[in-house]
Amino acid sequence: MTYESVLETYQPVIGLETHVELGTVSKMFCGCSTQFGAEPNTHVCPVCLGLPGALPVANEKAIESTIRIGLALNCSIASWCRFARKNYFYPDMPKNFQTSQYDEPLCVEGYLDVVVGDHTVRVGIERVHLEEDTGKNTHVGVSGRIHGADHSLVDYNRAGIPLVEIVTKPVEGTGALAPETARAYVAELRDILRTLEVSDVRMEQGSLRCDVNTSLNRPGAPWGTRTETKNVNSLRSVERAVRSEILRQADILDAGGRIKQETRHFSEQSGDTRPGRSKEEATDYRYFPEPDLVPMAPDVDWVESLRTGLPELPAARRVRLRDVLGVSVEDMIHMTNAGVVDAVGATVDAGAPVGEARNWWLGYLAQRANEQEIGAAELPITPAQVARVIALVADGSLSVALARQVVDGVLETGADVDAVIAERGLQVVSDAGALEQAADDAIAANPDVAGKVRGGKVAAVGALVGAVMKATRGQADAAAVKDILLAKLDAS
Ligand code: ADP
Ligand code: MG
Ligand code: ZN
Repeated sequence: MTYESVLETYQPVIGLETHVELGTVSKMFCGCSTQFGAEPNTHVCPVCLGLPGALPVANEKAIESTIRIGLALNCSIASWCRFARKNYFYPDMPKNFQTSQYDEPLCVEGYLDVVVGDHTVRVGIERVHLEEDTGKNTHVGVSGRIHGADHSLVDYNRAGIPLVEIVTKPVEGTGALAPETARAYVAELRDILRTLEVSDVRMEQGSLRCDVNTSLNRPGAPWGTRTETKNVNSLRSVERAVRSEILRQADILDAGGRIKQETRHFSEQSGDTRPGRSKEEATDYRYFPEPDLVPMAPDVDWVESLRTGLPELPAARRVRLRDVLGVSVEDMIHMTNAGVVDAVGATVDAGAPVGEARNWWLGYLAQRANEQEIGAAELPITPAQVARVIALVADGSLSVALARQVVDGVLETGADVDAVIAERGLQVVSDAGALEQAADDAIAANPDVAGKVRGGKVAAVGALVGAVMKATRGQADAAAVKDILLAKLDAS
C-alpha cells in the first residue's frame, strides 16, 4: 500500500510530547551542578540521591524558564499549582519516585502556529510542566537492554536536572502532511527554546527529546488507538517515525486487525518502529501531591514582567526579516532551519542580491557544511566574502564552477577571495585570442567531430566545447566558446 492510498482511507491524528532539559547551573531541587560529561556520580548529594531526611528546594530559575516557555507558547500561567510524586521503582531514580507535576501543571491551554508548506497549522498546547530528569542506566551485556544484561551501571549526575515537558493536544486534519507537521512543530519549538535561551536544545545529546503519538481513523469515526514512539532524536526521524507508523497501522487496520496502545521505538537504521512496553498494562504511578515542597504561586506582576521581557520570537523575527530581505515565508523557514538567516542578511548588507545570497547559503555552502556536520553559518567564510564571490560571478569574472573552487580555497586556506583567485589562477579566460587559439586546437585535434558539425549535426559541438573547457581548465565561458566554435565551423 502506498502512503498516498492510505490517506484516501484514513485520517492521521498526531500528538507530541517533548522533553527539554533546562540549561540551569544547578539541579531542580538541590545545588548540584548540571554540567554534562562529568565523571559518573560526582554531581550528587543527599537530595538528588533521595537519602532519608534530605529536603528539596525548588530552583527559581527553572520555574522562571518554564513560565517563559509557557508564555512563548501562548499558555495561561497557573496562579497556584503543586508538584506531585510519580511513584515507580526503577534504579534510574534513587528516590523511587520522580518529582513531577500531575493534574496541576504550571502552564496550560496554549498554542503554537506552525508553517507547513504554504499553510499554517495551529497546534494546541495541552500543558507545559516542570519535572526532574532521571539518572542514566547502562546495561552491560550483548543485548544492551536490562533483559539479559550481565550487570547495569547507574550514573546519577543527570538525576534531578530540571526537565520541562511540553504536551500538545491531538492534531487532526493535516492529512498527508502529518509527518511534515510533526517535524515543523518540533523545529519551531526548538527555535523558540533556543531564542529564549532556556536550553541548548541538542537533540543528538538528548537535551531535547521527543515522543511522537500517532493514530488513524476513518473519516467521521472517532480517533483511533494511538501508539507512542519514543527515542526520536532528530527532526528527520520525527517525520520518518510518523510516516512509518501511519503505514504500519494502515496495514493492520486494512487486514481487519486492531492497533495496540503501546510505546514503540524508532530505529534510525531501519526507518521503522518496533514495539516497546504495552500501555494497556501500564503501571499505576499513584501520583499524590509532593508533601516536601510548598505549592507554587507565581506572582502576577512577576509573570507580567516575564511576558514583557520575552525576546522577539522566531515567527516575528521571520516576518521582520522577510520584509527587510523581501523573501517568501517558506524561504524564511528554510533559512531559519539551516541557521543562515543572519548570514543571508549580512551577505545582502554586503551588496549581494538576496536571491543569490540565499542560493549560496542554502546550496553550495550548506552542502560543504553538511560534509563536516556543522551548520553553514559556522563555515570559515564571511558574508562579505560570499558577497564578493557573488559580485565576481555577476560581472563575468567567475563562472559558477570557478566560484565554487574559489569558495573551496577560502574555506581551506582562510585567505581572502581575491588572493585565492590570484594564487590559484581561477579567473575566467575572456582573452579572445586565447579562446580562438584553443578553439582552433580543438577542431584540429577532433576532425571527425568538426566534420559532423559542419555537416549540420550542431549538437556534436558539445564535444569540442568540452575539449576547450578542458584545455582552459574550466576557466572559459562555455557559452562564448560554443559561439566561437560554431562560427568557425559555419554551423551557427
Ligand atoms: P501519556 O503520558 O500517557 O503519554 P500524555 O497526556 O502525556 O499521556 O500525552 C498524550 C499525547 O498523545 C498528547 O500529545 C496527545 O495529544 C496525544 N494523543 C492523545 N490521543 C491521541 C490520538 N488518538 N492520536 C494521536 N495522538 C493522541
Ligand atoms: Mg507521555
Ligand atoms: Zn544533588
